[in-house]
Amino acid sequence: MSKPMKQHLIDPEICIRCYTCEMTCSVGAIQHDDTNVVVDPEKCEYCMDCIPVCPTGSIDEWRIVDSPYSLEDQLGFTELPAQEEITLPGDTGGGDLEAFDDVVAALLAEAHKGTGGKPKAPATAAKPTINLYTLGKPAEATVQGNYRLTAADSDADVRHIILNFGSLPMPVLEGQSIGIIPPGSDENGQPHLPRLYSISSPRDGERANFNNLSLTVKREPEGLCSNYVCDLEKGDKVQVTGPFGATFLLPEDPRARMLMICTGTGSAPFRAFTMRRQRTVGTEQGGMTMFFGARAPDSLPYFGPLKKVPEALLHTFMVFSRIPGTDKEYVQDRMLVERDRVADLLSDDNTHVYICGLRGMEQGVESAFCDIAGDLGADWPALRDRMREEGRYHVETY
Ligand code: FAD
Repeated sequence: MSKPMKQHLIDPEICIRCYTCEMTCSVGAIQHDDTNVVVDPEKCEYCMDCIPVCPTGSIDEWRIVDSPYSLEDQLGFTELPAQEEITLPGDTGGGDLEAFDDVVAALLAEAHKGTGGKPKAPATAAKPTINLYTLGKPAEATVQGNYRLTAADSDADVRHIILNFGSLPMPVLEGQSIGIIPPGSDENGQPHLPRLYSISSPRDGERANFNNLSLTVKREPEGLCSNYVCDLEKGDKVQVTGPFGATFLLPEDPRARMLMICTGTGSAPFRAFTMRRQRTVGTEQGGMTMFFGARAPDSLPYFGPLKKVPEALLHTFMVFSRIPGTDKEYVQDRMLVERDRVADLLSDDNTHVYICGLRGMEQGVESAFCDIAGDLGADWPALRDRMREEGRYHVETY
């Protein structure tokens, strides 16, 4: 009889195939094919380096097994297997479920220590389609438009890109991403890996009922894919994978209250959320509050259109960190100024929190939440974990 072991797995239903874990693993234990990203049980050394870099938490999955799932098994997963009944040391057979539960609970507690916990979709979110198009079988989209969103003399070159899928099905939900495969190959002759971009249009299209979607892409200096995308011209063909993402989704319940915090291109999913609500909800709706940070008005994507959204639907606080002659202000600073509004939202079980944008924003936002939750006599980590467990707390940073 083999000894039970803790096996590291990746949840294929939540993984967005960004391959960050694979690039982070120093022992080459993580690999992927066209469908799944998997962990080699022979190579994994449990160093945990891959856990914090995963944007979705799908990497933080563990099973106690008598014999590990092989790479082939894992590549065939469409969902994670349930925890199997195992034979514990000292068992005479049949499995002692109570002792087994204790072992799993202890191991899972250890695995989740210091990590963000497993994200959950909002209870009323529509069921997303994921992984319809893969690296081996991508969809081909045609560029319908490429518009600069930021001022010509602004340091930030952010583009609004519209892709048309013609007759190919591309069922997406607000909050999901797609992958773009840059053309060409790397120094080893391998095709480039796709980069992920949040969809910034609602599910029925940038133009309602046309099979198109939009992206909000920032040109990164020396960046391979962002430069490719920002330079695309009308009529160009683009290879697309996805859709990806099963948790950072919009509640279908129009009464859900939304608190959205973003920087730069992190506004992309919130544009999609706002347009969806503009197109679907009536006066009976919970409202949306957004804290949106950028360097200056001319580098804030969608600055003009945002100002035209009715306040009853969306209240936006635009926060700028580089206005000559004024103090730097970041989203967390404005959250503290508006602490009564934020506290009111946090105290309501109907509120959903979304944070999207640069990874560096998380710490400041977290400490603002800590401070504001204190006004309510609440312990922020406990409140945050409960909200996450209830599918009401969502983070997507990159
Ligand atoms: P890469 O070539 O991968 O380079 C990575 C970084 O290294 C870049 O910052 C680049 O500036 C730097 N670099 C590369 N080469 C050099 C060099 N020679 N010298 C100095 N620096 C160098 N991005 C968006 O713009 N919009 C979105 O909506 C969006 N959504 C995302 C959603 C998710 C879930 C995730 C995980 C990421 C998202 N991203 C988004 C980020 C996006 O996927 C890419 O990471 C980003 O566009 C950079 O890719 P790249 O190929 O241009 O850069």
